[in-house]
Amino acid sequence: MVLSGAAKLAGVMGWPVDHSLSPRLHGYWLREYGIDGAYVPLAVRPGDFAEALAALPRLGFAGVNITLPHKRSALAAVDEAHPGARRVGAVNTIVVGAEGGLTGSNTDGYGFMENLKTNAPDWEARHGPAVVLGAGGAARSIVAALADAGVPELRLVNRTLDRAEALAADIGGPLTLVPWSRRHDALEGAALLVNATSQGMSGNPPLELALDGLPAAAVVNDIVYTPLRTALLAAAEDRGNRTVDGLGMLLHQARPGFAAWFGVEPEVTEDLRSFVLQGMTER
Ligand code: NAP
Repeated sequence: MVLSGAAKLAGVMGWPVDHSLSPRLHGYWLREYGIDGAYVPLAVRPGDFAEALAALPRLGFAGVNITLPHKRSALAAVDEAHPGARRVGAVNTIVVGAEGGLTGSNTDGYGFMENLKTNAPDWEARHGPAVVLGAGGAARSIVAALADAGVPELRLVNRTLDRAEALAADIGGPLTLVPWSRRHDALEGAALLVNATSQGMSGNPPLELALDGLPAAAVVNDIVYTPLRTALLAAAEDRGNRTVDGLGMLLHQARPGFAAWFGVEPEVTEDLRSFVLQGMTER
Protein backbone atom coordinates (compact mmCIF):
# COMPACT_ATOMS: atom_id res chain seq x y z
CA MET A 1 0.00 0.00 0.00
CA VAL A 2 1.46 3.37 -1.01
CA LEU A 3 0.99 5.97 1.73
CA SER A 4 -0.27 9.51 1.12
CA GLY A 5 0.96 12.56 3.03
CA ALA A 6 -2.20 12.29 5.15
CA ALA A 7 -1.52 8.69 6.24
CA LYS A 8 -2.55 7.89 9.82
CA LEU A 9 0.30 6.76 12.08
CA ALA A 10 0.49 4.34 14.99
CA GLY A 11 3.10 1.96 16.37
CA VAL A 12 4.43 -0.07 19.26
CA MET A 13 6.86 1.34 21.80
CA GLY A 14 9.12 -1.11 23.60
CA TRP A 15 12.73 -2.02 24.40
CA PRO A 16 13.63 -4.19 22.67
CA VAL A 17 10.82 -4.15 20.15
CA ASP A 18 12.19 -6.21 17.26
CA HIS A 19 10.49 -9.38 18.56
CA SER A 20 7.04 -7.72 18.55
CA LEU A 21 4.35 -9.29 16.38
CA SER A 22 2.22 -6.13 16.51
CA PRO A 23 3.62 -4.50 13.32
CA ARG A 24 2.82 -7.68 11.39
CA LEU A 25 -0.64 -7.93 12.94
CA HIS A 26 -1.65 -4.31 12.39
CA GLY A 27 0.07 -4.30 8.98
CA TYR A 28 -2.21 -7.18 7.94
CA TRP A 29 -5.33 -5.23 8.91
CA LEU A 30 -4.12 -2.02 7.24
CA ARG A 31 -3.71 -3.95 3.97
CA GLU A 32 -6.91 -5.95 4.45
CA TYR A 33 -9.02 -2.81 4.90
CA GLY A 34 -7.09 -0.68 2.35
CA ILE A 35 -6.31 1.99 4.95
CA ASP A 36 -3.98 4.89 4.26
CA GLY A 37 -1.94 4.31 7.40
CA ALA A 38 1.22 2.82 8.90
CA TYR A 39 2.04 0.95 12.12
CA VAL A 40 5.73 1.01 13.02
CA PRO A 41 8.06 -0.45 15.68
CA LEU A 42 9.41 2.26 17.99
CA ALA A 43 12.49 1.08 19.89
CA VAL A 44 12.61 3.39 22.91
CA ARG A 45 15.03 2.95 25.82
CA PRO A 46 13.50 3.20 29.31
CA GLY A 47 15.34 6.48 29.98
CA ASP A 48 13.82 8.04 26.85
CA PHE A 49 10.29 6.76 27.34
CA ALA A 50 8.58 9.86 28.82
CA GLU A 51 10.13 12.15 26.22
CA ALA A 52 9.28 9.82 23.32
CA LEU A 53 5.69 9.52 24.51
CA ALA A 54 5.31 13.28 24.88
CA ALA A 55 6.54 13.74 21.29
CA LEU A 56 3.82 11.52 19.77
CA PRO A 57 1.15 14.23 19.31
CA ARG A 58 3.74 16.59 17.79
CA LEU A 59 4.75 13.86 15.33
CA GLY A 60 1.15 13.36 14.28
CA PHE A 61 0.67 9.89 15.78
CA ALA A 62 -2.89 8.70 16.40
CA GLY A 63 -1.56 6.50 19.21
CA VAL A 64 0.62 3.57 20.15
CA ASN A 65 0.72 0.19 21.82
CA ILE A 66 3.04 -0.09 24.78
CA THR A 67 5.00 -3.24 25.44
CA LEU A 68 7.72 -4.34 27.86
CA PRO A 69 9.31 -2.73 29.79
CA HIS A 70 7.13 0.41 29.58
CA LYS A 71 3.63 -0.81 30.51
CA ARG A 72 3.74 0.41 34.11
CA SER A 73 5.57 3.67 33.35
CA ALA A 74 2.95 4.41 30.71
CA LEU A 75 0.25 4.47 33.39
CA ALA A 76 2.06 7.32 35.16
CA ALA A 77 2.89 9.13 31.91
CA VAL A 78 -0.55 9.43 30.28
CA ASP A 79 -2.84 12.43 30.86
CA GLU A 80 -5.80 10.19 31.54
CA ALA A 81 -6.05 6.46 32.26
CA HIS A 82 -9.14 4.28 31.95
CA PRO A 83 -10.23 2.83 35.31
CA GLY A 84 -9.41 -0.69 34.06
CA ALA A 85 -5.79 0.30 33.38
CA ARG A 86 -5.48 1.93 36.82
CA ARG A 87 -6.88 -1.20 38.41
CA VAL A 88 -4.35 -3.54 36.76
CA GLY A 89 -1.55 -0.97 37.08
CA ALA A 90 -0.46 -0.95 33.44
CA VAL A 91 -1.28 0.61 30.06
CA ASN A 92 -0.86 -1.20 26.73
CA THR A 93 -2.82 1.11 24.41
CA ILE A 94 -2.60 4.90 24.08
CA VAL A 95 -4.83 7.13 22.00
CA VAL A 96 -3.86 10.72 21.15
CA GLY A 97 -6.89 12.99 21.53
CA ALA A 98 -7.87 15.92 19.32
CA GLU A 99 -6.12 18.36 21.68
CA GLY A 100 -3.00 16.18 21.90
CA GLY A 101 -3.82 14.60 25.28
CA LEU A 102 -2.81 10.96 25.83
CA THR A 103 -5.43 8.49 27.07
CA GLY A 104 -4.23 5.07 28.24
CA SER A 105 -6.15 1.82 28.51
CA ASN A 106 -5.34 -1.82 29.03
CA THR A 107 -6.87 -4.23 26.52
CA ASP A 108 -5.23 -7.49 27.70
CA GLY A 109 -8.25 -8.55 29.78
CA TYR A 110 -10.56 -7.80 26.85
CA GLY A 111 -8.30 -9.83 24.54
CA PHE A 112 -8.29 -12.72 27.00
CA MET A 113 -12.10 -12.79 27.34
CA GLU A 114 -12.76 -12.44 23.59
CA ASN A 115 -10.35 -15.30 22.87
CA LEU A 116 -11.93 -17.49 25.54
CA LYS A 117 -15.49 -16.74 24.38
CA THR A 118 -14.58 -17.40 20.73
CA ASN A 119 -12.70 -20.64 21.29
CA ALA A 120 -14.69 -22.10 24.20
CA PRO A 121 -18.18 -20.79 23.39
CA ASP A 122 -19.83 -23.19 25.86
CA TRP A 123 -17.85 -21.84 28.82
CA GLU A 124 -19.77 -19.45 31.05
CA ALA A 125 -18.41 -17.62 34.06
CA ARG A 126 -21.18 -19.03 36.27
CA HIS A 127 -20.14 -22.63 35.54
CA GLY A 128 -17.74 -22.75 38.46
CA PRO A 129 -14.40 -21.79 39.99
CA ALA A 130 -11.59 -20.47 37.81
CA VAL A 131 -7.96 -21.26 38.64
CA VAL A 132 -5.37 -18.71 37.53
CA LEU A 133 -1.68 -19.61 37.78
CA GLY A 134 0.53 -16.52 37.95
CA ALA A 135 0.33 -13.04 39.43
CA GLY A 136 2.40 -11.05 36.92
CA GLY A 137 1.25 -8.35 34.53
CA ALA A 138 -0.84 -10.68 32.36
CA ALA A 139 -2.46 -12.41 35.35
CA ARG A 140 -3.57 -9.03 36.77
CA SER A 141 -5.58 -8.29 33.60
CA ILE A 142 -7.01 -11.80 33.48
CA VAL A 143 -8.08 -11.83 37.13
CA ALA A 144 -9.81 -8.45 36.69
CA ALA A 145 -11.59 -9.69 33.54
CA LEU A 146 -12.74 -12.95 35.14
CA ALA A 147 -13.93 -11.17 38.28
CA ASP A 148 -15.90 -8.71 36.12
CA ALA A 149 -17.34 -11.61 34.10
CA GLY A 150 -18.81 -12.96 37.36
CA VAL A 151 -16.87 -16.15 38.14
CA PRO A 152 -18.17 -17.38 41.50
CA GLU A 153 -14.71 -18.23 42.84
CA LEU A 154 -11.22 -17.41 41.64
CA ARG A 155 -8.31 -19.47 42.95
CA LEU A 156 -5.09 -17.59 42.46
CA VAL A 157 -1.91 -19.66 42.58
CA ASN A 158 1.48 -18.01 42.41
CA ARG A 159 5.01 -19.07 43.30
CA THR A 160 5.58 -15.83 45.24
CA LEU A 161 2.73 -15.35 47.69
CA ASP A 162 3.50 -11.63 48.26
CA ARG A 163 2.84 -10.93 44.62
CA ALA A 164 -0.51 -12.74 44.76
CA GLU A 165 -1.42 -10.73 47.89
CA ALA A 166 -0.57 -7.47 46.13
CA LEU A 167 -2.71 -8.50 43.16
CA ALA A 168 -5.63 -9.36 45.45
CA ALA A 169 -5.35 -6.01 47.24
CA ASP A 170 -5.30 -4.04 43.98
CA ILE A 171 -7.86 -5.97 41.97
CA GLY A 172 -10.26 -7.66 44.35
CA GLY A 173 -12.90 -10.19 43.34
CA PRO A 174 -13.88 -13.56 44.82
CA LEU A 175 -10.24 -14.56 45.31
CA THR A 176 -8.74 -17.42 47.28
CA LEU A 177 -4.94 -17.40 47.41
CA VAL A 178 -3.41 -20.85 47.04
CA PRO A 179 0.26 -21.63 47.76
CA TRP A 180 2.25 -22.86 44.76
CA SER A 181 2.84 -26.23 46.45
CA ARG A 182 -0.97 -26.80 46.55
CA ARG A 183 -1.58 -25.95 42.88
CA HIS A 184 -2.56 -29.54 41.96
CA ASP A 185 -5.31 -29.60 44.63
CA ALA A 186 -6.64 -26.22 43.45
CA LEU A 187 -7.96 -27.90 40.29
CA GLU A 188 -10.70 -29.87 42.11
CA GLY A 189 -14.11 -28.82 40.78
CA ALA A 190 -12.71 -26.05 38.56
CA ALA A 191 -14.50 -25.00 35.38
CA LEU A 192 -11.54 -23.06 33.97
CA LEU A 193 -7.76 -23.31 34.31
CA VAL A 194 -5.55 -20.49 33.02
CA ASN A 195 -1.78 -20.57 32.87
CA ALA A 196 -0.58 -16.96 33.12
CA THR A 197 2.93 -17.83 34.28
CA SER A 198 5.89 -17.86 31.90
CA GLN A 199 6.38 -21.62 32.53
CA GLY A 200 6.01 -23.60 29.32
CA MET A 201 7.25 -20.74 27.16
CA SER A 202 10.13 -21.62 24.78
CA GLY A 203 13.34 -21.36 26.76
CA ASN A 204 11.60 -21.99 30.10
CA PRO A 205 10.84 -25.35 31.74
CA PRO A 206 7.34 -26.75 31.22
CA LEU A 207 4.71 -25.99 33.82
CA GLU A 208 4.69 -28.78 36.38
CA LEU A 209 1.06 -29.47 37.08
CA ALA A 210 -0.78 -32.76 37.68
CA LEU A 211 -4.16 -32.49 35.98
CA ASP A 212 -5.72 -35.53 37.71
CA GLY A 213 -8.10 -33.47 39.84
CA LEU A 214 -9.35 -31.29 36.98
CA PRO A 215 -12.93 -32.09 35.87
CA ALA A 216 -13.24 -33.35 32.28
CA ALA A 217 -15.61 -30.48 31.50
CA ALA A 218 -13.09 -27.79 32.46
CA VAL A 219 -11.60 -25.47 29.83
CA VAL A 220 -7.80 -25.11 29.84
CA ASN A 221 -6.37 -21.86 28.50
CA ASP A 222 -2.62 -21.33 28.26
CA ILE A 223 -1.79 -17.71 27.44
CA VAL A 224 1.78 -18.68 26.49
CA TYR A 225 1.83 -18.74 22.67
CA THR A 226 5.44 -19.73 21.92
CA PRO A 227 5.04 -22.64 21.43
CA LEU A 228 1.40 -22.52 20.47
CA ARG A 229 0.71 -26.05 21.75
CA THR A 230 2.35 -26.06 25.17
CA ALA A 231 2.89 -29.24 27.18
CA LEU A 232 -0.03 -28.11 29.39
CA LEU A 233 -2.41 -27.86 26.42
CA ALA A 234 -1.18 -31.18 25.00
CA ALA A 235 -1.76 -32.93 28.35
CA ALA A 236 -5.21 -31.32 28.73
CA GLU A 237 -6.20 -32.27 25.20
CA ASP A 238 -5.05 -35.88 25.75
CA ARG A 239 -7.40 -36.24 28.70
CA GLY A 240 -10.30 -34.69 26.79
CA ASN A 241 -10.42 -31.13 28.18
CA ARG A 242 -11.33 -28.31 25.85
CA THR A 243 -8.22 -26.19 25.21
CA VAL A 244 -7.61 -22.60 24.16
CA ASP A 245 -4.18 -21.36 23.08
CA GLY A 246 -2.68 -17.93 23.75
CA LEU A 247 -2.39 -16.50 20.26
CA GLY A 248 -6.00 -15.37 20.09
CA MET A 249 -5.51 -13.19 23.19
CA LEU A 250 -2.71 -11.36 21.42
CA LEU A 251 -4.83 -10.87 18.30
CA HIS A 252 -7.97 -9.72 20.14
CA GLN A 253 -6.17 -7.30 22.50
CA ALA A 254 -5.06 -5.38 19.39
CA ARG A 255 -8.59 -4.66 18.14
CA PRO A 256 -9.59 -1.66 20.30
CA GLY A 257 -6.38 0.24 19.46
CA PHE A 258 -6.70 -0.37 15.74
CA ALA A 259 -10.33 0.78 15.79
CA ALA A 260 -9.46 3.99 17.68
CA TRP A 261 -6.46 4.93 15.50
CA PHE A 262 -7.65 3.89 12.05
CA GLY A 263 -11.45 4.08 12.35
CA VAL A 264 -12.24 0.46 11.35
CA GLU A 265 -13.34 -2.34 13.70
CA PRO A 266 -10.94 -5.12 12.65
CA GLU A 267 -11.78 -8.82 12.65
CA VAL A 268 -9.77 -11.73 13.98
CA THR A 269 -9.91 -14.36 11.23
CA GLU A 270 -8.21 -17.69 10.50
CA ASP A 271 -6.27 -15.97 7.73
CA LEU A 272 -4.93 -13.33 10.15
CA ARG A 273 -3.98 -16.05 12.62
CA SER A 274 -2.07 -17.99 9.92
CA PHE A 275 -0.31 -14.82 8.81
CA VAL A 276 0.83 -13.97 12.35
CA LEU A 277 1.82 -17.60 12.99
CA GLN A 278 3.95 -17.53 9.86
CA GLY A 279 5.72 -14.46 11.28
CA MET A 280 6.38 -16.41 14.49
CA THR A 281 8.01 -19.31 12.65
CA GLU A 282 10.14 -16.95 10.55
CA ARG A 283 11.65 -15.27 13.64
P1 NAP B 1 5.55 -11.52 34.45
O1 NAP B 1 4.89 -10.27 34.89
O2 NAP B 1 7.04 -11.59 34.41
O3 NAP B 1 5.00 -12.72 35.38
C1 NAP B 1 5.57 -14.01 35.28
C2 NAP B 1 4.76 -14.99 36.11
O4 NAP B 1 5.33 -16.29 35.94
C3 NAP B 1 4.76 -14.70 37.61
O5 NAP B 1 3.55 -15.09 38.17
C4 NAP B 1 5.90 -15.60 38.08
O6 NAP B 1 5.81 -15.95 39.44
C5 NAP B 1 5.67 -16.81 37.24
N1 NAP B 1 6.87 -17.65 37.16
C6 NAP B 1 8.06 -17.33 36.57
N2 NAP B 1 8.94 -18.34 36.74
C7 NAP B 1 8.31 -19.30 37.49
C8 NAP B 1 8.69 -20.57 37.97
N3 NAP B 1 9.91 -21.07 37.79
N4 NAP B 1 7.77 -21.29 38.66
C9 NAP B 1 6.53 -20.79 38.87
N5 NAP B 1 6.11 -19.59 38.43
C10 NAP B 1 6.98 -18.85 37.73
O7 NAP B 1 5.08 -11.93 32.98
P2 NAP B 1 3.67 -11.60 32.24
O8 NAP B 1 3.83 -10.37 31.45
O9 NAP B 1 2.56 -11.69 33.23
O10 NAP B 1 3.60 -12.82 31.20
C11 NAP B 1 3.43 -14.16 31.63
C12 NAP B 1 3.34 -15.05 30.38
O11 NAP B 1 2.19 -14.72 29.63
C13 NAP B 1 4.53 -14.92 29.43
O12 NAP B 1 4.85 -16.19 28.93
C14 NAP B 1 3.98 -14.06 28.30
O13 NAP B 1 4.58 -14.34 27.04
C15 NAP B 1 2.52 -14.49 28.27
N6 NAP B 1 1.63 -13.41 27.79
C16 NAP B 1 0.78 -13.71 26.76
C17 NAP B 1 -0.09 -12.75 26.30
C18 NAP B 1 -1.02 -13.07 25.16
O14 NAP B 1 -1.54 -12.14 24.53
N7 NAP B 1 -1.27 -14.34 24.90
C19 NAP B 1 -0.10 -11.46 26.88
C20 NAP B 1 0.77 -11.19 27.93
C21 NAP B 1 1.65 -12.18 28.38
P3 NAP B 1 6.53 -15.06 40.59
O15 NAP B 1 5.59 -13.94 40.89
O16 NAP B 1 6.71 -16.03 41.68
O17 NAP B 1 7.85 -14.59 39.99
